[in-house]
Amino acid sequence: MKLRTRLTWALVAWAAVMALMMPLQYLVTAQDATFPTLTPPPSPTGNGGTATWTVDSQTFISNYPMGMEFTLKASSSAGEIKNATAIWKLSPVSLQRAAGVFNKETGQWEFLWDSLKSPMPAWVGLQYWFVLEDEKGNDFTTNSWQAEYADNTRSWGRAESEDIIVYWEHPIDDEFGKLTLDAMAEQRETYRIAWGSLLSYKPRAIYYATRDSYFEWDRTRNSIGRRDVGQTSSSWGGTVQYNYNGNLREGAYGTVLHEVAHLYQSDKRSTTGIQWWTEGQATFFEREQMYDYVGNLKAIAKQQGLGPLRSDWGVYFGGRTPYDTGYAFIKYLTDTYGLDILDKITQNMRAGKPLLDAIPAAVGKSLDEIEYDYRVWLGLDDPTVPTQMPTLGFSFPPTPTFPPTKTPKP
Ligand SMILES: [Zn+2]
Repeated sequence: MKLRTRLTWALVAWAAVMALMMPLQYLVTAQDATFPTLTPPPSPTGNGGTATWTVDSQTFISNYPMGMEFTLKASSSAGEIKNATAIWKLSPVSLQRAAGVFNKETGQWEFLWDSLKSPMPAWVGLQYWFVLEDEKGNDFTTNSWQAEYADNTRSWGRAESEDIIVYWEHPIDDEFGKLTLDAMAEQRETYRIAWGSLLSYKPRAIYYATRDSYFEWDRTRNSIGRRDVGQTSSSWGGTVQYNYNGNLREGAYGTVLHEVAHLYQSDKRSTTGIQWWTEGQATFFEREQMYDYVGNLKAIAKQQGLGPLRSDWGVYFGGRTPYDTGYAFIKYLTDTYGLDILDKITQNMRAGKPLLDAIPAAVGKSLDEIEYDYRVWLGLDDPTVPTQMPTLGFSFPPTPTFPPTKTPKP
């Protein structure tokens, strides 16, 4: 394929994205997104050029876990079609594509996507379309269609509401669908107030029944030694988990709500590298706790002391500590200043303020004052904020000796 053709298609793809959604200034974890970061041209190429285009048929086939396949039969009145590309969108920010190969026997264009390229779990939804070019240089973008990366090899349940689409692999009980829809409905107004508005798309929760079936979809990785029990990705707009402890209620009212909050962090453009905030904020949206998070933080504080916020609280950061420290601080903020303090902080972050500037700007007090108040709220013997801890040499974080109970990445 000539570079110029590639570029044209890239620009057509870009125009399609721009037409489909809000302006993109922030690319979340779409490591598999292939759309260009070029500045789009002032006006996209007209659709179809001087030719009349006909689409006779198109198909989509899921070959999960190996990949997907598209076919297209189309023609241009001006001449042979020289190039065809299938383009698909997984979530508001992730575009992928596959170049077509013409099959002379069937007269169809065939497009193959191998899951080794960028693995994704079963039941991710996609919207796809085709971009064509004929020998006279006319370009044409087809209509689009919806599909799912279906797992046709196993039995699955499905449920959908205005809040979420949920899939579970049998023998996980169908009760899981109802629990998840209920949990999301009960949490809807909390999400809305705390984030200013609901998620810009309908997320997916995909629950595998076993470790083996869960590890099957990511063919780029060897499952030996893997300890993760789930992943959440804004590039395909959902969370995938396996039902490792059999607790469906905890999955729905804890994990799903937590992971959806991570999707909000990307969607509302307020991600930060500060882990206690990222995890504490997601934990805040769980409706049922696995244990007493604030109680646990108080016990840690009693045992180790609680360092300054600016030094990540100065506590040992293994296992669940970032979740508990972050949760307790956010619980304090929302109890004291209302749920919408989170929206105010998010707005500040979206405007470019780092987290530790966004918090005082939202609260209207200095970070030191907020921290002192927090330590009083926590009931520490000495609420005075300790002075900055000395900078220690860089060291790698300790490897936890137990599997994480939450997903390893937001
Ligand atoms: Zn998390």
